[in-house]
Amino acid sequence: MERLQKVIAHAGIASRRKAEELIVKGKVKVNGQVVKELGTKVSGNDRIEVEGVQIESEEKVYYLFYKPRAVISAASDDKGRQVVTDFFPHISQRIYPIGRLDYDTSGLLLLTNDGEFANAIMHPRYEIPKTYVARLKGLPSREAIKKLEHGIMLEDGKTAPAKVKVTSFDKKMNKAIVEITIHEGRNRQVRRMFEAIGHPVSKLKREKLAFLTLHGLNAGEARELSPHEVKLLR
Ligand code: URA
Repeated sequence: MERLQKVIAHAGIASRRKAEELIVKGKVKVNGQVVKELGTKVSGNDRIEVEGVQIESEEKVYYLFYKPRAVISAASDDKGRQVVTDFFPHISQRIYPIGRLDYDTSGLLLLTNDGEFANAIMHPRYEIPKTYVARLKGLPSREAIKKLEHGIMLEDGKTAPAKVKVTSFDKKMNKAIVEITIHEGRNRQVRRMFEAIGHPVSKLKREKLAFLTLHGLNAGEARELSPHEVKLLR
């Protein structure tokens, strides 16, 4: 759901300010009813008319992107760093990332202009599994891994049970590679979980989200989700 004035502004009919003015003046109808309330939220299914003319909602698009490291998960950055939408120069829709990966994390990120879809994916209620591959400093013990599997206390509460698989245990280099699947999406969660067991992450990549993988993509490349994939994720 988005604010009515934002939807009108995005449709290119008026600036945000002008859109607010039109609403307050009673020039905007939602599903045939005049709406003067500025906070009104509307969805893609609502029919919006401005001064008697129905606005066309932007076509909804869905992309799976392989985010490289050193890229910001946002549509703009006030420090001028590279952002994920820089990789989509030919798209007319205003897309944005669904959730975020840290600046230094690479991997699977979805982008869309469908606010409802984005909210559904991010809502903890859906518990979408996300799989990360982490390179760790040091060699975690069996007990430490068990702690992560059961849930570990972080600043913002205990984590839900996770699936953890050690895929490489390099004694000579004193580092390990671990695959971890979590169902939450707290800020820097995977890094904080490994810090909590005393093995900071030196490299992190998201390899999977639900049934989606990075198969066939190189870093910096994207593909559209198929309608079937979008339906399955909803
Ligand atoms: N967990 C992290 O610590 N970082 C990410 O980018 C994603 C999940």
